[in-house]
Amino acid sequence: MAEDRIPFPETVFEFARWFPDDRACMNYLYRSRWPESFVCPKCRSTEDPYMLDKYKRIECSRCGHQTSVTAGTVLHRTRMPLTMWFEAAYHVATYTPGTSALQLQKHLGASYETAFNMLHKLRAAMVRPDRDRIHGKVEMDETFVGAPKPGKRGRGAEGKTIVPARGKRIRSGRLRMRVVPDAKGKTIVAFAKGNVVPRSLILSDDLSSYGGLPKHGYRHRVVPSASLDRIHMSFGNFKTWTPGTHHGVSSKHMQAYVNEFVFRHNRRASPMAAFQTILGLAAQAEGPTYRQLYAVGDRRGWVHPTA
Ligand SMILES: [Zn+2]
Repeated sequence: MAEDRIPFPETVFEFARWFPDDRACMNYLYRSRWPESFVCPKCRSTEDPYMLDKYKRIECSRCGHQTSVTAGTVLHRTRMPLTMWFEAAYHVATYTPGTSALQLQKHLGASYETAFNMLHKLRAAMVRPDRDRIHGKVEMDETFVGAPKPGKRGRGAEGKTIVPARGKRIRSGRLRMRVVPDAKGKTIVAFAKGNVVPRSLILSDDLSSYGGLPKHGYRHRVVPSASLDRIHMSFGNFKTWTPGTHHGVSSKHMQAYVNEFVFRHNRRASPMAAFQTILGLAAQAEGPTYRQLYAVGDRRGWVHPTA
């Protein structure tokens, strides 16, 4: 499904023309989901299905199994009009700094809670479960994000350490970034294993935590911190973006913002293709409910996927 992408609107004018109402959005979802022809998820029949409730439910004409175009996506069981979801996804995908819950609330005329929840659902679709690891020459570094507790020096309870790795090539340098508990050797190695192909050359500063990388199959070279300029630029952009667009983010949701930042960075050349991904069409990601979002950090809470 993800391989055969159907066309997507290239400009804001096309967008408005393509998606005037929920029926048009529904149609688009249907074609995204089944670009060739309908396939029944249960019996694999490709016969034309019955459309019920204006496309909301689809019934297999062979086995009677019912499905919907939104099943398995962030749009599933939503009470918001699809036009609003499309509008939100369009903003997040195409406007360089993304959009905040406050801006989206005003734009859609929705409540803050609704806008906040919509954005987090869209963010949940930004992490591909099958994403590939980066390779070649890779810069790695770590930084501290967020406000230290007042009166405490250094790493307070409110902040988080994030570790990014970035391909060295300027144009195609892909970024991976994740919130981690500390910058110890074990953490650095675990991050590398999840995000960088073994035998790649990792460039880092002389922090001893990186010294363990060769034992795990990586080539490693210590370079002057000043030469890690591209990765420092990504840090700088992230730190400007979170307070700038989102007026600071709470540490329990930090990973979701990291995901969005990485997603936009890696798709900066094709923002409109990102639009389909964000709707959850590619990842089949369902995203958190508002209740789950509030419980992040608790046992029953939502866990932000890691980019
Ligand atoms: Zn069937």
